[in-house]
Amino acid sequence: MTTKTETSLSIRGISQVFQSRGREPHTALDDVSLDFKDGEFVSVLGPSGCGKSTLLYIVGGFITPTSGAVFSNGKKVTGPGTDRGPVFQEFALFPWKTVVGNVEYGLLQQKVGKAEARERALQMIDMVHLSKFANFYPHELSGGMRQRVAIARTLAYGPSTLLMDEPFGALDAHTRHVLQNELLSIWERDQKTVMFITHSVEEAIFLSDRVIVMSRSPGTVYRDQKIDLPRPRVHSELLVNKRYQELVLEIGGVMQELHGEAVE
Ligand code: ADP
Ligand code: MG
Repeated sequence: MTTKTETSLSIRGISQVFQSRGREPHTALDDVSLDFKDGEFVSVLGPSGCGKSTLLYIVGGFITPTSGAVFSNGKKVTGPGTDRGPVFQEFALFPWKTVVGNVEYGLLQQKVGKAEARERALQMIDMVHLSKFANFYPHELSGGMRQRVAIARTLAYGPSTLLMDEPFGALDAHTRHVLQNELLSIWERDQKTVMFITHSVEEAIFLSDRVIVMSRSPGTVYRDQKIDLPRPRVHSELLVNKRYQELVLEIGGVMQELHGEAVE
């Protein structure tokens, strides 16, 4: 494994105040600073409404923050870019396009030649184990398969950072585990930086090098916990791993203390 030393993503003093007409201004994020090392897998945990999605949209360049700035590979973020690839919970696929049509769409938009776009799309589809379904339409696929297509579509244009907002939140427990494993094998191979939002303590620990716990409104960084568990990680082995159990109790405890929420 390469040494993770260089910062690929730097979030500096981000605050976000939403000003809706007829309402008091709402401070969603208050002075959030975080650095992600190149190739680091970082999860952001916190209850509904603490500003996780807002932070991810700001990193993605979809929202301009009220104050502060984000730097991706040293360059200030001023809008969306192919260096940062978002994957959201809703499977926002084009229903009228096939799997391969969906995956190659972004490449064609970027003026990649037709033959090359097709070849790269098919490679990505193979990577998420959907080769047999390349010509299927989204409505012919299960939820887990659709989310795999969404991941392949984002990976196709080669972002150095993946921005994932509860990508497995709508899936059943079994499919969720399968996709977590697939994501980790892709990550272990490509060494992309990942910002992964979840509200599951166990999912965050299983996947990550570091877990950030955000405090409730306005969102701030409350805990930055290194996950010192060996890789590759296997669910059945972790369940009986003493350090894993300690981390679940520790981070679950922080969540409870902050938010009065039960551990998932
Ligand atoms: P999370 O993803 O942690 O559940 P969000 O980032 O979606 O939280 O929202 C954080 C807070 O900001 C919430 O109180 C939400 O209502 C508010 N908020 C998010 N987007 C907007 C918006 N566009 N306008 C006004 N308020 C917003
Ligand atoms: Mg959210």
